[in-house]
Amino acid sequence: MEYEAVIGLETHVQLKTRTKMWCGCPNEFGAPPNTHVCPVCLGMPGILPVANEEAVRLAVLAGLLLNCEIPGRAKFDRKNYFYPDMPKNYQISQYDMPFAVNGWVEFEFEGRVRRVRLTRAHLEEDVGKSFHFEDRSGVDFNRAGVPLLEIVSEPDIESADMAFAYLNALKDILSQGGVSDCDMEKGMVRCDVNVSVRPAGSSELGEKIEIKNMNSFSGVRRALKYEIARQIRVLREGGKLTQSTRRWNEELGATEEMRTKEHAHDYRYFPDPDLQPFEPSPEWLEAIRARLVELPLRRKQRLAAQYGLPDQDARALADDPALAEYFERLARKASRPKAAANWILNNLRALMAEENERRKRAHSAAGLDEGQWTPMSLEELKFEPEAILELIELTDKGVISSRIAQEVFAEMFRSGGSPKAIVESKGLAQVSDASQIERLCEQAIAENPGPAADYRKGKKAALNFLKGQVMRLSRGKANPALVGEILEKKLR
Ligand code: ADP
Ligand code: ZN
Ligand code: MG
Repeated sequence: MEYEAVIGLETHVQLKTRTKMWCGCPNEFGAPPNTHVCPVCLGMPGILPVANEEAVRLAVLAGLLLNCEIPGRAKFDRKNYFYPDMPKNYQISQYDMPFAVNGWVEFEFEGRVRRVRLTRAHLEEDVGKSFHFEDRSGVDFNRAGVPLLEIVSEPDIESADMAFAYLNALKDILSQGGVSDCDMEKGMVRCDVNVSVRPAGSSELGEKIEIKNMNSFSGVRRALKYEIARQIRVLREGGKLTQSTRRWNEELGATEEMRTKEHAHDYRYFPDPDLQPFEPSPEWLEAIRARLVELPLRRKQRLAAQYGLPDQDARALADDPALAEYFERLARKASRPKAAANWILNNLRALMAEENERRKRAHSAAGLDEGQWTPMSLEELKFEPEAILELIELTDKGVISSRIAQEVFAEMFRSGGSPKAIVESKGLAQVSDASQIERLCEQAIAENPGPAADYRKGKKAALNFLKGQVMRLSRGKANPALVGEILEKKLR
């Protein structure tokens, strides 16, 4: 029998706020252990949480970016549990009235636009982090109380690769939308993976297995590939699957059973008596709507349609909002937007990447921390974006050849000079003066009697060789079309 996978993801994303969810401690990664703490986030008796309004705004903003409905009333609940890294022993979360419900994420996968529906997105608090040493354990509470958005998908995902694409799309939307930095290295995105298998084409759901606490997207993909194959193998061998929780063991490359699943009601949720229910006003919502940005997929589709860009160019630009903005500034004035896209995506990106390599090397040569160097930004470019238009025009008009244009661009990048000034000062303008080119053609023919004879005998390819010689003699400046014409005439 053929089986198919059914996958639903619960993705936790740390929100980009200055302070924590219920107190004024900094929401900041990397401080020495237990330096960003206070009685509130340490869960001391008698403390009172005060909701961070920006966190609530970001939760709602995320909901809007993810096409969710924003219910007229939301509340916070206590989720009771034994949390070794959370001394309150309850987590403030949202049980039945979250900030956002019924949304979806759209993304391209295997050449099609796919949609994964979202059940809900609710706001909760992150917990501290346990460390286990040889003879003792410790807890760092810096992370405790950091605002965390949990985004729950419907079981609409069909494969490990599709889960990977979904997570990347979600990350792009939330980071471009200003909701979270989504820095994986800093653990800002974590994911619980739910997966079952069923006979292909069936509409019933199989027994769900949950893989907890994945912190890399490629890990999610590997764990799913393993787990789907394992479940199918169990069923094919006549075994039975029961709902349970497993963990991904990266060293073994396998999932291992942790426990059979506790039920939701075990958490004894109840409304947090310290926090008021929340009813967003139309004005408050309007102010959040004003923060909405264009989503990557939409931007890609628009760039392709509006400027006639090929799919691949539109996607490359859409993935980098700053670069896309830079492109559009040019494209609006360009007669050939595609040419502007080429300069940006090929030459500009290559030179910036080179510069970044240089910076990285200089940084480590100076013995500085690896991750700490700053990549080059578009604001640092020494030339005005319009200079690219000037360069395109010079090429289109035949003032310079496209090979020379590369040289001019590199010089613009280095010195910030305008293309016209560079062409003039370096004498790079294309030579279209027939008498000058004639002299060079005669020289090339005289220096290469063999190929000249070959051409006269009918070996057409020899012309290209001679053409190359003339270009070399002109240091790349001769007008290639004219060179071809004149050579042919002289060899006839
Ligand atoms: P729980 O009550 O155990 O948290 P939920 O019904 O709330 O379970 O679902 C949690 C996540 O698991 C959601 O992302 C959902 O899409 C996914 N899910 C639910 N049932 C299945 C299933 N049979 N197979 C795969 N994923 C599932
Ligand atoms: Zn605090
Ligand atoms: Mg659930």
